[in-house]
Amino acid sequence: MAAEASPWDLVVIGSGVIGLTTACLLQQRLPEHTNITIVASEFPNPSPMTQDSSNIPLAPAASSGYASMWAGAHYRPIPYLSPSNSQYGSLSGTQQRFQSQLACEHHLAIRTAKMMKQLAREHPETGIEIMPGVEYLENPPAENLALETGDVYASLDDGFRVITATEIEALNKRAEHDIGRQIKWACKYETYVVNVHVYCAWLLQRFLSQGGRVVQRRLHNVGEALQVIPEAARPIVVNCSGVGLTPDPKMKIIRGQTILVRNQYHSTTTRQCADGTWSFLIPRPLGGGTVIGGTKQVGDLETSARPEERKRLLDSAVRCFPDFVSDVKDFEVVSDNVGRRPWREGGMRIEVDELVQGGARIPIVHGYGAGGRGYELSWGAAEEICKLVEKSGKPHARL
Ligand SMILES: Cc1cc2nc3c(=O)[nH]c(=O)nc-3n(C[C@H](O)[C@H](O)[C@H](O)COP(=O)(O)OP(=O)(O)OC[C@H]3O[C@@H](n4cnc5c(N)ncnc54)[C@H](O)[C@@H]3O)c2cc1C
Repeated sequence: MAAEASPWDLVVIGSGVIGLTTACLLQQRLPEHTNITIVASEFPNPSPMTQDSSNIPLAPAASSGYASMWAGAHYRPIPYLSPSNSQYGSLSGTQQRFQSQLACEHHLAIRTAKMMKQLAREHPETGIEIMPGVEYLENPPAENLALETGDVYASLDDGFRVITATEIEALNKRAEHDIGRQIKWACKYETYVVNVHVYCAWLLQRFLSQGGRVVQRRLHNVGEALQVIPEAARPIVVNCSGVGLTPDPKMKIIRGQTILVRNQYHSTTTRQCADGTWSFLIPRPLGGGTVIGGTKQVGDLETSARPEERKRLLDSAVRCFPDFVSDVKDFEVVSDNVGRRPWREGGMRIEVDELVQGGARIPIVHGYGAGGRGYELSWGAAEEICKLVEKSGKPHARL
């Protein structure tokens, strides 16, 4: 009984959107276990960031590996086929597993959207804003073609609408000369966007104001996190280090290059081009400009912005979104950005593991590998991670 009464000492590795959200939720869910430390090599910059003359925060001094500082960030759902869909049976085993991963992520995203929208309404200072989402697809897959107006897409009350053939025809008239690049499917819905620097700093502040402790340190492995809580009687490590910090053959990084411009767009808009490239505009709330993107390069370790990619992205934005600016020279570029998405094949690793140290079995709860979806899955993933922390902290829990 005595062991049950003594609080756990929780150490969360990572101060990205997943670690910060998880740490805040742990404080809320386990008020008797308030002894929570975040250890990370990088934190959101708590001091005001360097600003240019128009008050747009410039990119923070963060490494490309600190993904949360480089995200757009918007919530763009990824549709999936359910087993009841007539086309599901013709998919290979690998494709069916991918569809069920997307189905799980859909539930995490819906739970996250509920929380993000609530924060946007009640705390606009978080840097979250509810906004229309628009998508144009030049080569729509079966998952999109199966959707109908009124379906639950981004959240329960998102007003999802498939854009009609007549509207698409009108859109395509703007680019009649380029038949190969015509829109074939499009939709509109309500979603949210995040000013990532403001939001992560807000989460960190919330964690500190609830009695959380932070330690800045680069770790070589998960076990080293225990060194920041040397007196802990019942330690639990929560691994939200983005890339995992543990040997995991499923982990890869996906390089993303984007451009922040001062021009402010009005809706978060994505175009999936027939050649497999993407063009998107993600407005940053609180007058933070617009992020123009972007690339998705698996395993590309280049941390500098490539001039030829910048040119392609800006040209593509002019072509795809003619109502934004009519010429590349109209963009007021603030910064070129490069970040690494911590992508795990098969989806995030949210599971319990253990570390045997000095004869003791210490629970490790993993929560890493969010890829390009860390913001939009954050609250749903944190709920799952918290459940595993509660379960593994119980005496006699089977690890
Ligand atoms: C260009 C780009 C655009 C994106 N757009 C979106 C978007 O629109 N919507 C969306 O939802 N997501 C988007 N993402 C993805 C999103 O940024 C990531 O999924 C998310 O940031 C992952 O968060 P995380 O907390 O898991 O990892 P990270 O943000 O990478 O944080 C990892 C933390 O762990 C710490 N850490 C790592 N290794 C160590 C170590 N050895 N020792 C100590 N500490 C360590 C780091 O210091 C950091 O604090 C985008 C990403 C990029 C690059």
